[in-house]
Amino acid sequence: MDAIAYPVGENLYLNITNRCSNQCPFCVRYKSRGFNQKYLLWLEQEPTVEELMAAIGEKPSKYKEIVFCGYGEPTIRLDVVKAIAAELKSKIQISKSKQCINIRIDTNGLANLFWGRNILPELKGLIDFVSVSLNAESSEVYDKICHSFYGQKAYPAVVEFIKEAKKYIPDVEASIVDMPTVDKEKCASIAADLGVKFRVRPYYEERYVR
Ligand code: SF4
Repeated sequence: MDAIAYPVGENLYLNITNRCSNQCPFCVRYKSRGFNQKYLLWLEQEPTVEELMAAIGEKPSKYKEIVFCGYGEPTIRLDVVKAIAAELKSKIQISKSKQCINIRIDTNGLANLFWGRNILPELKGLIDFVSVSLNAESSEVYDKICHSFYGQKAYPAVVEFIKEAKKYIPDVEASIVDMPTVDKEKCASIAADLGVKFRVRPYYEERYVR
């Protein structure tokens, strides 16, 4: 069965689409139908808000974070992201729980190009933490490793997205995948100049479902 919500450690990950505006050769979508030897992530059908809320369950506050993540790019289903985040925030208010739910989105940072508008103000108060895949130190390197539908427009848009995210989302991170073709020091320095956290993501291929 498709995994639309799956736990990893203390967090719950939501898988809402297979679609993405990039075609990174290292992406799990091109390597496997799943992750971590047990979750089948390829969706035969994109889940509805109701299906996702049912999969999250009655006690979302038991998770440290609820994360909109892969298989594909979650902001392609922006309305679903906003609806789920709003429901989770209101659920916790109604239950008067002192525990807060931290809601994170892992994104390629291309949503403003995809939607043709700045979507970040729409995430204010809904998303607590955004992790943006910076992926490279320059447009040239980004293009080589991400093969974006947007070509040379993509990398400057990702950098702009990170800058804009800082205005609306409390916690912002720029990340790269640990690959020899990427200059980690230069990427760390770009993140520092942007005033955001920096993370090097391990390459997880050994955990994919074969
Ligand atoms: S941006 Fe993420 S989801 Fe999209 S192709 Fe690259 S790794 Fe896969």
